[in-house]
Amino acid sequence: MVSASASKIFASSSNPLPSPIPPSGLNDLPYDVVIIGAGIVGAMLARELSRYKLKLALIDKEDQPGLGVTKASLSYIHRNHMNPPGSERAKFCVGSQDRFRALAAELGLPYREADEINIAFDKEQEQQIRTRLDWAFKNGETKFRVISKEEVARLEPRLTRDFTFAVYSEAHGMIHPPEWAFALTENAKANGAEVLLETEVLGLAQAPDGTWLVRTDRGNLRSRYLINAAGLFADEIAWMAGDRDVKLFKTRGTFAIFDSSVSSMLRHLVYVAGLNLSYSQAMGPTMHGNIILGLGWFKEPKDRIDTRVTKEELDCILRMGRQIMPDLPERDLITSFAGIKSTNNLAKPEDFYVGPSGVSPSLIYALICSPGITGSPGITRRIIELLADAGLELQEKADFNPYREKPYRFKDASEEERKEAIARDPACGHLICRCEQVSEAEIIEAVRKGARSIEGVKQITRAGMGRCQGGFCGPWILKIIARELGIPPEAVTRKGKGSEEVIRFDQIGASL
Ligand SMILES: Cc1cc2nc3c(=O)[nH]c(=O)nc-3n(C[C@H](O)[C@H](O)[C@H](O)COP(=O)(O)OP(=O)(O)OC[C@H]3O[C@@H](n4cnc5c(N)ncnc54)[C@H](O)[C@@H]3O)c2cc1C
Repeated sequence: MVSASASKIFASSSNPLPSPIPPSGLNDLPYDVVIIGAGIVGAMLARELSRYKLKLALIDKEDQPGLGVTKASLSYIHRNHMNPPGSERAKFCVGSQDRFRALAAELGLPYREADEINIAFDKEQEQQIRTRLDWAFKNGETKFRVISKEEVARLEPRLTRDFTFAVYSEAHGMIHPPEWAFALTENAKANGAEVLLETEVLGLAQAPDGTWLVRTDRGNLRSRYLINAAGLFADEIAWMAGDRDVKLFKTRGTFAIFDSSVSSMLRHLVYVAGLNLSYSQAMGPTMHGNIILGLGWFKEPKDRIDTRVTKEELDCILRMGRQIMPDLPERDLITSFAGIKSTNNLAKPEDFYVGPSGVSPSLIYALICSPGITGSPGITRRIIELLADAGLELQEKADFNPYREKPYRFKDASEEERKEAIARDPACGHLICRCEQVSEAEIIEAVRKGARSIEGVKQITRAGMGRCQGGFCGPWILKIIARELGIPPEAVTRKGKGSEEVIRFDQIGASL
């Protein structure tokens, strides 16, 4: 697949030439578009580009889409009040709730909405909320209003009464982003996109005819257009292409998750204006009915994978949580996590840069920050326009199928649906994760569709996300993955290569 000139360029780099990726079976032509990074942006883009007659590939170094920053966020589809009018962020986030709602229907994905209450504890915070209110109206939002303390107390009886000012807004979306990245990729694949996982891009070069040469740890590819959607690693991808001017600045947010048994304690997303207009503290319901508390104070991470949560950080967000809800159910805290967000030097401070690289219009960057999930439909539209401007011919396929069959979920199914499903396949009634009520059939389906690790199965099915955090169901899930993949249990990983779960499965396996 690699031309003679490509081989020369790669051979001149310090790493030896790896063995080729198995032939795609399509033909030996270059790809039209290769997307680097299967986070929410890359996955959404692959799905949208799969509408067109293109030879398309989506590459990610992880074994499943959506396991980068996309996995570690607050996961709200925010209304347009956090984005300064005129900013790229504001433009990309217009109408996102409508787009997510439509996609949820097409792809059989869960999408929920909650209303939000912004509260301030002092004059400075009140000014920040007023600024956001002004931004909301300037960005075309209509359902924002100042509300009284009494109204807040009626809506959220457990909330503190110590605040001085509050604003109410309607219909903020909620999703589980890794599940979305997985489903978007599945639909892209069904429409002809090639998805290369566990494939790390190591080098890039542009041949004299403009074709991009992509060196990966599994072999080499050629492509006419390249999209850099590599999230926290987008600067490295830019450097590989010879663009040394891209810099990312990283900060860290920490979250705590409370068990779904206390979900009735809070029905709204409650935001406290933070130190500045970009960072806030939040507490609200999650897509799956838990309570999430977090963001806290952002810190500089040690490196791009520094997502450990320290005791100090956890104490800090709990302190902050008690400020919002004095009887915070601390005994029901079940887990915590951190996510790293990046901003970049090509955009105005805290804004997105979605545009051509400095080296060629055929290499396009998606350098984004929060709220990148909210902005992903707009970002996708913009990248498609940029591809067209750069000369890519976009011809729609007559047979594009926008639909994906909604997967069976025991927890959400009615009694009738459960009975039918169990009659078809008894595994639909065999509960593996009791906390989240996930059946064996759901885990099998996730593995058959591409989940490879315990973390991967968890992000798609929720198995292991409940109160016991996989303490009881973990070995069962491991055993099902091994059985479905036809590999020894010792080869099953927690989250990708190097995180194998057990050394001697026979010692625990006998009891299962
Ligand atoms: C704490 C926190 C809270 C947030 N809350 C929200 C929120 O509520 N709402 C919202 O809209 N946004 C939120 N965001 C922002 C949002 O999560 C991100 O903007 C978005 O997920 C970024 O998606 P992405 O696809 O660009 O990047 P990623 O999800 O990081 O995807 C990039 C992918 O590229 C792959 N990759 C990297 N390098 C290579 C390589 N060399 N070869 C192959 N693959 C590679 C990675 O494996 C990864 O899968 C939050 C962010 C943080 C940190």
